[in-house]
Amino acid sequence: MLAPVESLLPGLDARTDADLTVTSPINGAELARLRSHSVEEVQECVARSVRAFRTWRDVPAPVRGELVRRFGERLRAEKEALAHLVTLECGKILEEGRGEVQEMIDVCDFAVGLSRQLYGLTIHSERPRHSMQELWLPLGPVAVISAFNFPVAVWAWNAALALVCGDPVLWKPSEKTPLTALACQRIFDEVAAGFAEAPEGLSQVVIGRAEVGNALVEDTRIPLVSATGSCRMGRIVGPKVAARFGRSLLELGGNNAIVVTQSADLGVAIPSILFGSVGTAGQRCTSTRRVFVHSSIADDVFGRLSRAFEEIGSQRIGDPLETGTLVGPLIDKDAFENMERAIEAIRPRATQIVGGGRTLEDRFPGGYYVRPALVRLERQSAEVFEETFAPLTYVIPYDSLEEVIEEHNAVPQGLSSAIMTTDLREAEYFRNRSDCGIVNVNIGTSGAEIGGAFGGEKETGGGRESGSDSWKAYMRRVTSTTYYGIERPALAQGVRFDA
Ligand code: NAD
Repeated sequence: MLAPVESLLPGLDARTDADLTVTSPINGAELARLRSHSVEEVQECVARSVRAFRTWRDVPAPVRGELVRRFGERLRAEKEALAHLVTLECGKILEEGRGEVQEMIDVCDFAVGLSRQLYGLTIHSERPRHSMQELWLPLGPVAVISAFNFPVAVWAWNAALALVCGDPVLWKPSEKTPLTALACQRIFDEVAAGFAEAPEGLSQVVIGRAEVGNALVEDTRIPLVSATGSCRMGRIVGPKVAARFGRSLLELGGNNAIVVTQSADLGVAIPSILFGSVGTAGQRCTSTRRVFVHSSIADDVFGRLSRAFEEIGSQRIGDPLETGTLVGPLIDKDAFENMERAIEAIRPRATQIVGGGRTLEDRFPGGYYVRPALVRLERQSAEVFEETFAPLTYVIPYDSLEEVIEEHNAVPQGLSSAIMTTDLREAEYFRNRSDCGIVNVNIGTSGAEIGGAFGGEKETGGGRESGSDSWKAYMRRVTSTTYYGIERPALAQGVRFDA
């Protein structure tokens, strides 16, 4: 067993009757074998979570925050080992693995502050001697279903907030990355064991594939299902939760674009496009898939990008644990085949294709490493509307800002967008017209900070999590009116009812 797995998950080898083999995308090596939870076991976990809720909701919010503070402290101590495990299990470069754990720490800090700021409004009543206020109260058990590409941060975004809001958490990680989840759970359990107010079952992990996630989705005892993953998954989960009048928070696929205008500073634009396109091997929901370039600079921008893609493709792909690697492997063979299919589909329309294809198969026969691909098109076509979860970027020329924003908004997804410009009018126009949840200026589409609300529109699902007032999704709102007069109370809207 590899060192970080052993240090974070001692005793994992001892498991028997396993049905889920966890492999590393780095070389296909087996990391562990796990047993999935049965539907009955998931239901028992939910029952435990309901019991935990009865205790946890009565713990004062700042005390709940103290537990999250301690958890954040432990994450600081375990950062390197956990980052290493993230890299081993999902293949992102170690630097990004560290960034992901840092994101967990940051959101814990944010949630600790929030635990003293779960403010409601006081509202002036239209009636004499009435006072109105809003209370925000704990909601109940929250299910978190997460994707492979952010195996720990997305859970932390949800869990840190849910916990300070008074909600227990049930986490179903991706079947491709369950070890990082078990490691987080182990760290959480150790912190909770030393915290008298934390009930048993406050945070639990259930292991398995879609059917285990489905057991959470269909359980009426869970008022909120926060699901991160593909639009395909959201299309199944969303209606099921709605059918039982549950609440869902959907964080689904993206198809993100950068518009490079005539006034752009290319010294700012090119690095942003590169990180967005090839960083995390193109496996971020916010990865840059489309680049619209003003036709007057299209040759220049394509030339610069293609040189950079070629250099990265020939020199900077490799073992994500090694310093100097910028692009690690794809998660698995399916991801590689999807990329191949997407390139074949667009080939007849492409005027130029740079990169693409598998590499390093001699060194890593069990890993799927690809050269990032850059495809030049004359115009956007239907093939581009699909999210290909790999480093595949389309470059498309445009002439007018009004028209390019129409093209930009034409895809079904609406997560992240960016404009590269030094013209204030272009920037403001884009900010107001892009239909995405994230609209950046002179910053690429990926690499969000936890302080802002994160999420997107249309088929991205409409959810918002992490910063700003996203916490409201994890609580229920009570509007309360009090009458403190001694006369017969007045009715709202001046209605008279003289019985
Ligand atoms: P996926 O949809 O295959 O799986 C995501 C999770 O959903 C997994 O835990 C999976 O087991 C579970 N799941 C799948 N079908 C289910 C069902 N019917 N019922 C209950 N659970 C089910 O996604 P993936 O391949 O792991 O991740 C990549 C996708 O996630 C991309 O589309 C990416 O854009 C998206 N993503 C979005 C965000 C965001 O914040 N918007 C963040 C990360 C990833």
